[in-house]
Formats: sequence, C-alpha cells, structure tokens
Amino acid sequence: MNFIRTILGDIPKEQIGLTYSHEHVVIDHCFATDIHPEFLLNDFEKLKEELLELKKLELSLMIDTMPVNAGRNPVLSAKLSKETGIHLIVPTGIHQEKYYPRNHWRFQYSEDQLSDLFIADIEKGIDRYDYNGPIVERNPSHRAGMIKLATNEEPFSAHQELIFRAVVNVHLHSGAPILTHTTNGTFALEQALFFEKLGANLDHVVLSHVDRNPDSRYIEQVLDTGVSVEFDSAFRWKTPENQTYTHLETLLSKYPHQIVVGMDAARNSYWKSYGGKPGLDYLLTTFPKELKKRNLEDFYDLLFIQNPRRIFSFIQPQNS
Ligand SMILES: [Zn+2]
Repeated sequence: MNFIRTILGDIPKEQIGLTYSHEHVVIDHCFATDIHPEFLLNDFEKLKEELLELKKLELSLMIDTMPVNAGRNPVLSAKLSKETGIHLIVPTGIHQEKYYPRNHWRFQYSEDQLSDLFIADIEKGIDRYDYNGPIVERNPSHRAGMIKLATNEEPFSAHQELIFRAVVNVHLHSGAPILTHTTNGTFALEQALFFEKLGANLDHVVLSHVDRNPDSRYIEQVLDTGVSVEFDSAFRWKTPENQTYTHLETLLSKYPHQIVVGMDAARNSYWKSYGGKPGLDYLLTTFPKELKKRNLEDFYDLLFIQNPRRIFSFIQPQNS
C-alpha cells in the first residue's frame, strides 16, 4: 500500500518529509500522569508553540506513541495537527502494564476482544473518551495509524503474549504498521523473533529505544531478523561518549534501511515551551551537526524520510 494514516486522514507516503519516529506530543490526564505528573502534555498553546518551531525547521510528521487509555486525546491531536501543519500519527494498541491500574480491562479482555477494539480505532475512529468509560464515541475522521505494544526487562508474560497475538491480528487484518516499546533495548531480539513467528510483515515493524542497549552486537542480531529499530537517546547521555552516535557509526553503513530516529520527549521538562530543555528541535539542529562530524550525513535522508515512509505505510490487509 502507498499511504500513511494520520489523525486528519490518509496521505500518500511520498508526501511525507522529515519524520520524528517516536514522540509524545499529546499526553492528557490518565493513570500514568497521576503517577508521573511530568508526563502531562495537554496545554494546547504550549504544544502548538513547540510544534510551530519544528514546522519552521520543515518537520513533516511525528509518530505519537501513547496507545489506548494512556493519555490519548484525538480531538486535541487533530486540532494541533490542523493548526501547525505537522502530520500526526496517533496509535492504537497498549502500553506497559505499569501505566494501567490493576483492575484495568486490558487484563480481562480476550485476544479477540482486544483485537476488535484496536481494529475499530484504525477503521472506525478513535473513541473521543479514549476508552475511559462505557460510552464510546468514534469520529470516523480521527483514525489510528499504528499499533503499539510494550515489554519490560523480563521474559514475556502470558498476558504480553496475548497482546502480541492481538497486535499481529490487527496488523494483518487492517494493514497498520507496528511500533513497540522495549525497556532499554532488552528483549528486542525476542520481540523480533516473536513477530516473525506470528507472521508480521517485518518491513513495517519498528522496535523503540534500542540505542539504550550498550551491546551493538546484540542490535545487529535484532536487525538481522529484518525489523527496524528506533534510536532516541542522543540528547540523553551525560557521559563523554555518546552511545547513540557510537551505535550509528557502527550500524548505519551495514543497516541503512532499518534505523529511524526520534526524541521520545515524554517529560514536559524536555520541551522549551514548558521552560525545559533541550527542546524538540534538538533532532533538527544539534543532531545533524553530530552526524556530519562523523561523516554520516549521507544517511540523513534515510533516517528521517525514506525509512519512516516505508515503515509507517500500511500493508495490504490479508482479508481483502
Ligand atoms: Zn515513548
């Protein structure tokens, strides 16, 4: 297929330019922000201010990564995209267990029930109440464009395996691409192999935060499966050696089509408009200079445009 599904509608992938591949653009009040108030990203004027700066730097698309019932607000996302001119992909799928109360429906529903909810987000529109209650109101023009799942630093639980199966069902049924959370790049290989076993199209599967794993040989094993990886910690390292740039130097020439980049700036203290730093523009200002210092500037187009276009476009659904 040739399109990407944004919160304002489908667009041909060729219309996508510079892309931030793992973002937190909108995080409205939810269980996660009650525990971590620093995650809250719902002040429309501040969000707009930061995004307009990115628009000036020609940013085209941001992949927002808060899935169901973890702070989504499709109405706010749509308004933000409309008023800034930046395309936004809003996901379906589900986040780490710790971001939901213990009695949450995610732990009760079957594989089929979760699949149906995720498919409805992609095909019929995201519930404006983000599945916070029994009333569900879908706006067919606000559809999800990606499916998210998350694992932790331990072997997958039965519940997580059920989520994997639901996510791959939805991917094959709807054609939507998959993005995952890994915790510090651990269990990335197990994620990739499980997706392969379940029959996902690995050209459209991207594993996040893998640069936080210090072992580049391990990352090579992950990439050898065919999945892509997302790096987002270049601005985080406090050490003289920047592990993200070191990984890029080691891996880019060997796997040029399987790496994308993002900010994952889930704390409002990273946003200039909230009085924080480095600001979301880091990736379009400092990062390119660091690539150039390492003679990696030829990969800029792949990291920011060509690879995201492929990964985040829809595949041909199996049921059609
Ligand atoms: Zn994230």
